Amino acid sequence: GKLERLGVQESVEAIFPPSELAAFLSDLPIDVSVVDEAGIADCDAVVTRNHFDALFEVDWIHSTQAGVDRFPLEALAEDGVALTNSTGIHGRTVGETVAGYLLAFARRLHDQIASATERRWERPAWDEAFTLPGTTACVVGTGTLGRGVADVLGSLGVETVGVRRSDDPLPEFDEMYAIEALHEPIATADFVIVTVPLTEATRGLFAATEFDAMRSDAYFVNVARGAVVDERALIDALEAGDIAGAALDVFETEPLPETSPLWELDDVIVTPHAAAYTRDYFRDVGGIVRENVERIGRGDDLTNRVV
Ligand code: NAD
Repeated sequence: GKLERLGVQESVEAIFPPSELAAFLSDLPIDVSVVDEAGIADCDAVVTRNHFDALFEVDWIHSTQAGVDRFPLEALAEDGVALTNSTGIHGRTVGETVAGYLLAFARRLHDQIASATERRWERPAWDEAFTLPGTTACVVGTGTLGRGVADVLGSLGVETVGVRRSDDPLPEFDEMYAIEALHEPIATADFVIVTVPLTEATRGLFAATEFDAMRSDAYFVNVARGAVVDERALIDALEAGDIAGAALDVFETEPLPETSPLWELDDVIVTPHAAAYTRDYFRDVGGIVRENVERIGRGDDLTNRVV
């Protein structure tokens, strides 16, 4: 049907003020307003971070995240509700965050910042610090995140190996493997970085066998989704020294429970699912929404369509 009312659902405030996005889209030839849960019922389309049952009644949902693992995809498809996501905008932000993790591990910045908060003047051991050129990062998942990560790491002199469903080359990567051969590149990499979406095929992709396959001086990075990793197996591997450390932005349970051993482990960097944060986020999402409002106006197919 014709698009008349677009709601910006309040749940987006976890990432940016809803009013900023509504103002950014206010020049569109439709009504755009911030809506609470009850307000969804008055909309044809809704931009949202969270799923609500009332969304089954709209024509089009836009997710402010790239991952849509929290939406009931099959049920939405059955009800004829279109769902679009925000993939395509997180390459640079997540790429820079991952570069930050790697620089922290190499230059021992996380340790020194931790010491400084306790006013301790503590230098690394002579053989702890290193530089990134000559190291290798294996990036599992070569979409927007994976390519953004490879692009930033490549500019820091890191050798990048991609893992995707095929082994067809991509310009951002020095080398490519197919997912069936995952154990080969993770066995030699200094850094293993997870950037795949959470699907039935990737749930628990990293478990005890994979951490065993990794080098004991290698670091593990997860900026994808917590459930792609068996968190208990990761903690065991870290505690046993099977791997050197980890930088984690996503967890099986978020917020990460206070009781998690991950908070206290050496060489583990915990960030609060904020790898893609930027003050430009509402503009980046707004660009996709604007494009799709225009496409609907022209009767064209939606971009970034998932369902
Ligand atoms: P994308 O769709 O651009 O890329 C995903 C890539 O993974 C695609 O190239 C796809 O072919 C590949 N893939 C899918 N299943 C695979 C499998 N079984 N084996 C190997 N490769 C597989 O998505 P994106 O924007 O790069 O985001 C990827 C995921 O990262 C999202 O789904 C989301 O869960 C997560 N994410 C996290 C943050 C954060 O804040 N930490 C931000 C954005 C995205």
